[in-house]
Amino acid sequence: KPLIIPRANHPISRRWLSPNAVKVLYRLKDNGFTAYLVGGGVRDLLLGREPKDFDIVTDATPGQIKRMFRNCRLIGRRFRLAHLHFHDEIIEVATFRSASQDEPCAEEQGPAPGEITEPGARMRPPRLLKSEDGMVLRDNIFGTPEEDAIRRDFTVNALCYNIDDFSIIDYVGGMEDLNRGVVRTIGDPLVRFTEDPVRMIRAVRFAAMLGFEVEKATWQTILDLSATITKAAPPRLYEEVLKLFLMGAGEKTYQLLRQSGLFAALFPHFNDWLARESDGVPHTWISRALDLVDSRIQAGDKVSPQLLLALMFGQYLQEKATWFRQAGAPPQQAVNMAVAEFMGELAPTVLVPNKLGILIRDILASQHRFQKIPGRHAETFAGRAGFRDALDYLRFVCDVSDEQGKIVAWWERFLQEPHLAQPEERSEEP
Ligand code: ATP
Ligand code: MG
Repeated sequence: KPLIIPRANHPISRRWLSPNAVKVLYRLKDNGFTAYLVGGGVRDLLLGREPKDFDIVTDATPGQIKRMFRNCRLIGRRFRLAHLHFHDEIIEVATFRSASQDEPCAEEQGPAPGEITEPGARMRPPRLLKSEDGMVLRDNIFGTPEEDAIRRDFTVNALCYNIDDFSIIDYVGGMEDLNRGVVRTIGDPLVRFTEDPVRMIRAVRFAAMLGFEVEKATWQTILDLSATITKAAPPRLYEEVLKLFLMGAGEKTYQLLRQSGLFAALFPHFNDWLARESDGVPHTWISRALDLVDSRIQAGDKVSPQLLLALMFGQYLQEKATWFRQAGAPPQQAVNMAVAEFMGELAPTVLVPNKLGILIRDILASQHRFQKIPGRHAETFAGRAGFRDALDYLRFVCDVSDEQGKIVAWWERFLQEPHLAQPEERSEEP
């Protein structure tokens, strides 16, 4: 009953896959296994976009995959995923699985303290098979191709490209949604977003990234459930937030997050502050920051997580630092305290790793060093690891505030012609 789209009726060609992905698909097929390219790779190829990575599913067990590929590493708590390592990419090969075998989210791993659970209520299928003797194992531990498709999040993410006849297999109506530009959960959105609230963020991400609409019932359910995003594990939400804003459509994403209520749930303190501030002058800082990040990413540049966060939350952080400063803290201390307070506010929802906090602090704390021009110890400063991010931050701040253009210009010129900052020139300054 799946819809099969034969090779003649879709545009995906093997030439568009990475050669490694093609090799892996054929090796599996030649060994008698089923092998499909799945997920974002198929979606992106159909849309004429370059896939970020190629994921493959098969009916070969992890042990069988390992025996077929020397460059294979089994990963995951229950070793159900195979990573095939190539020079410049990793191809993920998973064995078909059903929803009941999905990894539990971190917060679901056990009952909360004091919670009463029925015996065996959260029992998972047995740990990794010690032996691999055929059918029974496959039926119990692994799933069917259809089960593997319907456990996925959105219809457009569940299409399979079958290496055996180059057809596309569509169990969930993904082709139609792809052609219409619709992000729709597979099955009841209430059920799917309750199972894993992170899917709400993913819906926003795909809508922004692909320029799609979120289907009506899916969107309505996000509006209803947005506050439950806080049930997801904070370290995972940090990773998701980075993906959201570092894919080149961060401004669009921000608008959708705000409309959906997800932004308020993820960043409650910052959101309250925005609401307080914006009755007066409308807030444009964060939108402009995200526009800048988007243009950099679209131009093929990398933006570091610390620069992203410093840019997004810079105005808020600066205001906090000013507050601590007025309360009597020395300048560097005030920046430290501002960043620490910010990270503490975020920690219950989005856990920013400590080392990131240090890098964000460095960007902000080094700003005063730009103020003296010609720069003192400019070469040493410019040689420091965080210099580029710090200068990018300065450039942005000057841009939003229409100030200090002279300072940025001096440092930009210095980077091109360092001799300008030689001591003899500097000594001419009063
Ligand atoms: P991207 O281009 O950003 O990598 P993607 O669709 O490949 O997008 P991944 O996070 O790489 O997204 O996940 C690969 C596939 O795994 C998805 O296409 C989807 O089918 C499935 N998937 C990922 N996360 C979930 C989830 N939380 N719930 C259900 N299925 C998921
Ligand atoms: Mg992917």
